Amino acid sequence: MTPAAFQQSILAWFACRGRKDLPWQQNTTPYRVWLSEIMLQQTQVTTVIPYFQAFIEKFPTLDSLAVAHIDEVLPYWSGLGYYARARNLHKSAQIIYQQQRFPDTLEELMALSGIGQSTAGAILSIAFHKSHPILDGNVKRVLTRYKGITGWSGDTQVTKQLWAISAELTPIERCADYTQAIMDLGATVCTRSKPSCTVCPIASHCVALSMGIVAQLPTPKPKKTLPVKQRVFLLLRNYDQQLFLEKRPPTGIWGGLWSLPEFDSIEAAQDWCLSKNMAINSQQLLPTSRHTFSHYHLDYTPLVIQTNSPTNFVMEANQSLWYNAGQQLGLAAPIKQLLQQHIKTENKND
Ligand code: SF4
Repeated sequence: MTPAAFQQSILAWFACRGRKDLPWQQNTTPYRVWLSEIMLQQTQVTTVIPYFQAFIEKFPTLDSLAVAHIDEVLPYWSGLGYYARARNLHKSAQIIYQQQRFPDTLEELMALSGIGQSTAGAILSIAFHKSHPILDGNVKRVLTRYKGITGWSGDTQVTKQLWAISAELTPIERCADYTQAIMDLGATVCTRSKPSCTVCPIASHCVALSMGIVAQLPTPKPKKTLPVKQRVFLLLRNYDQQLFLEKRPPTGIWGGLWSLPEFDSIEAAQDWCLSKNMAINSQQLLPTSRHTFSHYHLDYTPLVIQTNSPTNFVMEANQSLWYNAGQQLGLAAPIKQLLQQHIKTENKND
């Protein structure tokens, strides 16, 4: 499909099916387009409508917003979230007010706080009828599927590719209608889940649809690679087959729960035993396991040490104890599992 055919299909669809009665589509001014674009960032149209109406009623012009105190503005954003958007809007309104001219170039708009390339493109296209591509979330989704682009859109190469596609497809004429149309197509037809491909005007040339990969696109953000911490968990067993446990500090991971002494290395665990005058009568290293927290993986290697020395070293009250099988204690799941496994193995070996 040529860019011209693509534009025609989108514009024809918009003429019959597109939304043309949204409050910011009436009485279009740069200020109203700008306000709507900022409100629509990360927020759905239905949520934005009442906020837009209340805001525009209170601050009908850019000048009225610029001369207001920020404390007057913020209540009109209350509940919409991402409050930096309101602060940036207000700050930029004051700058424009001082300049006494609404910026009408990409560079000038992008120099203002909170206006990125896509918002600037939308303002220029819709309010000034100057052809500029946009790439908001809805447009990204349409283009990604239409062209079958794989890879996370936050990746620089993918972003570059999408901007190039958007630029190629944006018409010089009727850029205002086209910009509204493609945003609307993404919001109402090519939706995140269950897109309505059967009524989509570009379905016959959609790569994702023809390849049956619509649900896989856009490629989700890759999961963060978590750092890995390595620890040795000491299973110190005394002559009575009890295991030594320590209470963890009240805050942090497993705060206030009973746990095994943890060390950076096998040597550190052995040194600790010797510092408590506990001879190491036998020792065994068990296979390493992984427990994943939200911000790191914990790879722990249990070290079983049998000591037959007297275990009457001074213990801080309620901070450590010798654990008997079946004793009811607050234990983190991996520790509980480890103790149970160890006790089971020991019973089998008896
Ligand atoms: S055919 Fe479906 S997946 Fe492709 S652009 Fe249209 S709605 Fe989106």
